[in-house]
Amino acid sequence: MEVLTREKCKECYGTGLVYSGIWKEFNELDDQYKKEHGHFMSNEDCEAWFRERGYHKFPSEEHSCGECEGSGLIAVWKSIDEIASMVFNIGIHTGHIKP
Ligand SMILES: [Zn+2]
Repeated sequence: MEVLTREKCKECYGTGLVYSGIWKEFNELDDQYKKEHGHFMSNEDCEAWFRERGYHKFPSEEHSCGECEGSGLIAVWKSIDEIASMVFNIGIHTGHIKP
């Protein structure tokens, strides 16, 4: 017998949002730029960088997680044995079950 359980999504850590890859790339570049120039890129340069990559305005920094479709939870089938041993372990730790 298997039971459908819900677990926190590992992709977005249960937030339902993931940081956009393009922003991650940009931030790394901007950090590098700051190291070399002592200041971050100008707004114009930022816009130009995104424009070169096909973004005519700044894309949103976070988007809905594809793994859990933004719910922050993923459905996981677990066998009843697995659940029983989990409950048993919790029971031991909380002292409700004597090992
Ligand atoms: Zn997720």
